[in-house]
Amino acid sequence: MATAKCLRSSVTYRPRFHLCIPLRAFPTSQHRHASSKHPQGFEPPTTSDLFELRERVQEFTRREITPEVASETDKSNSFPSEMWAKLGSAGFLGMTADEDVGGLAMGYQAHCIVMEEISRASGSIGLSYAAHSQLCVNQLQLNGTPGQKTKFLPNLIAGTQVGALAMSESGAGSDVVSMRTTAKEADGGYVLNGTKMWITNGPEADVIVVYAKTEPEKGSKGISAFIVEKHFKGFNCARKLDKMGMRGSNTGELVFDGVFVPKENMLGEVNRGVKVLMEGLDLERLVLSAGPLGIMQAALDVALPFTHQRTQFGSPVAHNQLVQGKLADMYTKLQASRSYTYETARKVDEGGDIRTQDCAGAIMYAAERATECALDCVQLLGGMGYVEEMPASRLVRDAKLYEIGAGTTEVRKIVIGRAFNKEFSSYAP
Ligand SMILES: Cc1cc2nc3c(=O)[nH]c(=O)nc-3n(C[C@H](O)[C@H](O)[C@H](O)COP(=O)(O)OP(=O)(O)OC[C@H]3O[C@@H](n4cnc5c(N)ncnc54)[C@H](O)[C@@H]3O)c2cc1C
Repeated sequence: MATAKCLRSSVTYRPRFHLCIPLRAFPTSQHRHASSKHPQGFEPPTTSDLFELRERVQEFTRREITPEVASETDKSNSFPSEMWAKLGSAGFLGMTADEDVGGLAMGYQAHCIVMEEISRASGSIGLSYAAHSQLCVNQLQLNGTPGQKTKFLPNLIAGTQVGALAMSESGAGSDVVSMRTTAKEADGGYVLNGTKMWITNGPEADVIVVYAKTEPEKGSKGISAFIVEKHFKGFNCARKLDKMGMRGSNTGELVFDGVFVPKENMLGEVNRGVKVLMEGLDLERLVLSAGPLGIMQAALDVALPFTHQRTQFGSPVAHNQLVQGKLADMYTKLQASRSYTYETARKVDEGGDIRTQDCAGAIMYAAERATECALDCVQLLGGMGYVEEMPASRLVRDAKLYEIGAGTTEVRKIVIGRAFNKEFSSYAP
């Protein structure tokens, strides 16, 4: 299917796992580099690779995530389960993963593009997409043993299994390392006890990356990461949460009641879970920052045609300077946020340079701007902005999540401040 489409194009393509990706005909030596955050032999995509990818994702969302699908996902508050296989056969679930387990090995700029375009079509499908493809798949890609990757990644990338990541607890959100879930060593593995809160995809997840304290008395140095499988005895989702926004991205409270996890399901080294967690958080924030970009674009997609069509006082409302001012603000906020996200992702892809302050900064900036843009969209639509027939109110409800999930705005400021403290430590008297 994909091959036929490729052959019609003027560019040379190689079909990789059902997604047409342009063959990079002339990789230069400056493209070759080693980064521990990319698959072996990774070559950063060219501008035209990324352009083509964006077109492919737009084709997909036009066909599969129509405005009706987005609205119904929000209204029913349930994820369209058939979407996982569709995302899988399009190749989007393994953007950063090794090709031999079904991934596209295209890097973080590409992952941001897919995340932005899916979120433009539906914020909540975008959030679930990121929890699966970034929080779960990419954590396994970065920290899994060859055996773990072979066992879990093919099904997750094909979309026949759903992934999640569980670190937050009702008493440990911003201060996540104060988690109380424990993992006690037992014969041939560990026994997990505790509960995890607000876990995206938790209600349907087959594979969950779970953080727990292997040596609670060691604090942050006693945390380990585990791969928990849905069928493990003692594991269940206690409830699905009823949220203000991101409805349809299923969020759950997970219970681990004496769950035996075999040793081969430990992710990374024992007591090195914080390293896995913190390194993962940088890339998670980077890829998630494309979610608010998509929501801002969606706000413009609604507000621009509406304000040019809606006539009051004898002319389109968009011909008033106050309205033009709002549209101009929305547009420049989106473009500034977009530049920040993609420049940060480009540095990761081209130099392996992960700057904590920029990963946190990109999502902090985009998230706040997305809430502002979505509110402006409501205002520009007047009464129609306030009714659920139009998507504007959904955009506000969805955008707000990005100021809270993956670390709140306040915590992101702390993260940026601490990165500066580290960089300028030699200046301290
Ligand atoms: C829809 C949704 C999906 C989520 N998905 C996941 C997931 O998949 N996996 C997962 O592990 N977690 C997930 N989370 C959890 C999320 O990461 C936490 O909710 C978030 O980190 C905030 O923690 P908290 O809710 O405990 O807030 P708290 O930590 O209780 O914070 C409450 C308020 O106090 C502020 N605050 C706290 N400490 C400080 C400080 N030192 N200085 C200044 N202000 C401070 C916060 O910024 C916030 O405004 C999700 C949450 C939501 C809502």
